[in-house]
Amino acid sequence: MRKVCLITTGGTIASQRDPHSGHVTASITGSELRAMLTYPIGEIDVTVDDFCKVGSYAMDLPLSFSLARHVSRRLEDGFDGVVVAHGTDTMEESAFMADLVVGSDKPIVYTGAQHAADEPNPDGPQNLADSLRLAASDEACGLGAVICFDHEFHAARDVTKSHTSRTDTFLSAEHGKLGDIDGDRVVVHRKPMLRRVYDADRVATDIDLIKLAMGTSDRYVRFAADNGAQALVLEGFGRGNATPAVTAAAADVIKKGIPVIMTSRCQRGRVKPIYGNGGGKTLAEAGIVFAGDLSGQKARVLLSVLLGMDLSGDQMRAEIEYLGG
Ligand code: ASP
Repeated sequence: MRKVCLITTGGTIASQRDPHSGHVTASITGSELRAMLTYPIGEIDVTVDDFCKVGSYAMDLPLSFSLARHVSRRLEDGFDGVVVAHGTDTMEESAFMADLVVGSDKPIVYTGAQHAADEPNPDGPQNLADSLRLAASDEACGLGAVICFDHEFHAARDVTKSHTSRTDTFLSAEHGKLGDIDGDRVVVHRKPMLRRVYDADRVATDIDLIKLAMGTSDRYVRFAADNGAQALVLEGFGRGNATPAVTAAAADVIKKGIPVIMTSRCQRGRVKPIYGNGGGKTLAEAGIVFAGDLSGQKARVLLSVLLGMDLSGDQMRAEIEYLGG
């Protein structure tokens, strides 16, 4: 019988409404969550492991990294696969963290819920059942960390939370899902090619992500650089362009030795230096690194790992450009 470790971290899947305060909070233990599993999962030996109890809006880079290391240890302990029950808000970042630092080829499945456990139509039990099946399957070996939700599973690098409340929130808009859970069947349609696993023993935390809008000033870029940022990720326009003020500030920041990475606020497609007169070409000539089609939040997770490993600027650029695609 396959042995799967169910690691709980809180999130909506483990939340209910407090009748006094009216707040929905993560308050359900792993064993209670396991007991709510009403869907058949076949012959799987499930061990529950309570890691923490937070809404994922309170998850941060060090906690997400220690969760990923915990996943690694459980797989080394002899489990055949791991399911991490996690809040949906930052699940894609935690799953990508695990994708980058867990060396095992065994299944690593992140899941959660959009409806709290005490709502009349909770989606947690079905997501959990699908995820346990996936984590116990041969098919999920070698895929890296995935998010399993609403009968689908997605590569950690590609997936994003696309809807605030609907249960079909997780999308890989550019590259598509990896596969489906169809009852007791796991169907894999594609395997992720762009993967790297790093031997990291710490992560950097002071990395700011700045989203640009029409006419954005240089205020945040300069403030971040003057106040301890180790690196900046810009979520720029289209192919990777910025306002003239941000372009000038980014060039100054790079001269101070602080890496600046360009991503796009578009949902799909790669950044590429094309435009002059203050566009992406100007930024690239100033030394900005273009992160392919990684989202801003995924590029930030990658940077936290790379900076934690004290790589040189050239090595970091090579890794970001490789994983950016
Ligand atoms: N809405 C969130 C969830 O799905 C809250 C969180 O991310 O913890 O769990």
